[in-house]
Amino acid sequence: MRQRVRIKGVVQGVGFRPFVYQLATRHHLTGFVSNDSEGVLAEVQGEESALAQFHTDLRSQAPPLAHIEAVLIESIQEIIESGFVIHNSIIHPGTSTSVSPDMAPCADCLRELLDPSDRRYRYPFLNCTNCGPRFTIQQGLPYDRPRTTMAKFALCAACQEEYDDPLNRRFHAQPNACPKCGPKLSYHENGQFLAECEEALALAQRALGAGRIVAIKGIGGFHLACDATNDQAVVLLRHRKRRGDKPFAVLFNSIETIRQVATISEAEERLLLSPQRAIVLLEVRPGTNLSHAIAPGQTQIGALLPYSPLHELLVNETPLVFTSGNVSDEPIIKDNEEAFQRLSSVADAFLVHDRDIHISCDDSVMSVFERREYPIRRSRGYAPLPVALPRELPSVLAVGGELKSTFCLTRERQGYLSQYLGDFGSPQTLAAFERAVAHFESLFLTTPRIVACDAHPGYLSSRWARQFAQNRQLPLLEVQHHHAHLASLMVEKGMDGTAPLLGLCFDGTGYGTDGTIWGGELLLVDYHQCRRLAHLRPVPLPGGDGCIERPYRMALAYLFAAGLDWSDDLPCVRACSPSELRLLRQQLGRNIHCVPTSSIGRLFDAVASLLGVCQHVTYEAQAAIELETLAETRENETYPLPLDPSRGVADPTDLLKSLLTDLQSGVPRERIAGRFHRSLARLIVDLAEFGSSHTNQRCIGLSGGVFLNRKLLQLSVDQLREAGWTVLLHEQVPTNDGGISLGQAVVAGHLGALL
Ligand code: ZN
Ligand code: ZN
Ligand code: FE
Repeated sequence: MRQRVRIKGVVQGVGFRPFVYQLATRHHLTGFVSNDSEGVLAEVQGEESALAQFHTDLRSQAPPLAHIEAVLIESIQEIIESGFVIHNSIIHPGTSTSVSPDMAPCADCLRELLDPSDRRYRYPFLNCTNCGPRFTIQQGLPYDRPRTTMAKFALCAACQEEYDDPLNRRFHAQPNACPKCGPKLSYHENGQFLAECEEALALAQRALGAGRIVAIKGIGGFHLACDATNDQAVVLLRHRKRRGDKPFAVLFNSIETIRQVATISEAEERLLLSPQRAIVLLEVRPGTNLSHAIAPGQTQIGALLPYSPLHELLVNETPLVFTSGNVSDEPIIKDNEEAFQRLSSVADAFLVHDRDIHISCDDSVMSVFERREYPIRRSRGYAPLPVALPRELPSVLAVGGELKSTFCLTRERQGYLSQYLGDFGSPQTLAAFERAVAHFESLFLTTPRIVACDAHPGYLSSRWARQFAQNRQLPLLEVQHHHAHLASLMVEKGMDGTAPLLGLCFDGTGYGTDGTIWGGELLLVDYHQCRRLAHLRPVPLPGGDGCIERPYRMALAYLFAAGLDWSDDLPCVRACSPSELRLLRQQLGRNIHCVPTSSIGRLFDAVASLLGVCQHVTYEAQAAIELETLAETRENETYPLPLDPSRGVADPTDLLKSLLTDLQSGVPRERIAGRFHRSLARLIVDLAEFGSSHTNQRCIGLSGGVFLNRKLLQLSVDQLREAGWTVLLHEQVPTNDGGISLGQAVVAGHLGALL
């Protein structure tokens, strides 16, 4: 009996062919296995029972990095042959396979790295079919060495032998290399090359030890590093990078070292050690030796473990600040020359190498909520793995929002989500975005038939999408921001859209269907439409989005809307100059340049300002994060925040009045912040019950950036469950705008199927 077996999914560059070879040999089958642009193709011939066993093992014993999406079997004519062979790659135009993400060194490679008798002892670029760079070095299809940035390194005899031996761990490991034939480290200062290999590494370590800032080239781009226990160094890095108060990630050498400064749950430990090696948000212990300048105003830090052999060698007992090598919120820099130029004012020295990065890929940021992954940024280690779609849709390119850009390209039942590309706005982001779109089109051999974007008329991503659609003569569909948030949650949960989802979107900014800014909505959504059932009462956003950087303006707007005095002793009044106060009063009074907003994010800003927590923000959601950090949520008291059942509108006026009374009677700010959190959690239950009275549903989805607030999330989830609700939370894509491209794609795909 002979079968043609086609295996789809992430099956290239992960040791799949040798695995099939070994399996076939073990079951005494003849035939061949090869890679092609559709995945892995094999022909196997032998006894029926042996073939059955082969298929069972194929699924159950697949290599660790493989991700099988489908196995198609077809009976064909037997032929006369002997033995089983591995064939070279064949490309069929018009088809494609999935691409593996970049993975941290496996246990076998780490052992070799530290074994003085091994020929790769302390070699910063060792890897095998179970680990190493993939997505960032791959230039085309199929995944073979000539189509990677390793093409320029000719394999030495020893490496070639491993590469050719089907039973070797490095059989067809495309980035295979050794100190003799592979990439090399080099160290540079003041535009001058100073050393290479071990000496380069030693110089970089010495510079870090001396409190200097070193730019280090990794897998997906450059990082800026400095001693995380050295205040001066960290403050200097913050200053040079013009970083404001936005927290830095920290690289540690081991779980034990992290445990000295932070508490780690079992699920968090698993995530830290997973081959994806994301930055994981952890609760910091009090009184650590970490610099206070790492995460000002926060009790969490983003920790990560080495994600490449180079980082394994680099970091010792002293943790390093490890932040993306970029300027403000631009994409991470990937090329040596660009780094030398653009990071010269930030870094004192450069530790680089000569393996090119074809496509940049910034670090992922993850957290754990109730033992499950709760993504904050889905990038290195995850991209470009697809998210499974509920059904086959016409191919869509969805461009996401404005901040935390990702795009999504769909093909059949897969949504290929891009890596994190930074905030839209700079030419660098735009260039990286365009490069990544073109790369995805070629890697997944897909040209979109529909383009999707946010409905916000001012978003640069929407403008880009309009231009792209025009150039390609494709339909452009606008998807409402919060519809996209909740649709992405529906996709994750495998909902096919036949039943709608009741969802709460608590968010910063999203353009509503009525031209106001939404962000505190109860919605009923499916993949075709989105109905607004209830929302927070809108207040004027004076000066539109410009108001977001100055929470005191939001507090004053809230007071104005509630008919409350701007009394001189309030922190928000003190933060505002007399002339700005005068202008603001006129603006609000005459309703000039005031966009109404129902955003919960803005309510957080207002309360943070009223309590004097934060008046100017230097990164997104800073005021809300600092208010959360402050909040003491143990007591049960709440402020009134009534929901009018006839209109579906929740009015925060009474909440603000009671909060001001507390403030003026000297209730500690921690408790006021806590009561505010509890009030919102209760509002969430009220909104859910209101939705239930219209729809009879007892299942609710939570999405939007506000749900990164863990205190609010925990209170809400607990109270909803207590009231008998099933709560759906994100696990695969972020609850912030990093996830909306997936929702846009699926909504546009459904609408486009009707065109
Ligand atoms: Zn390995
Ligand atoms: Zn070699
Ligand atoms: Fe959003």
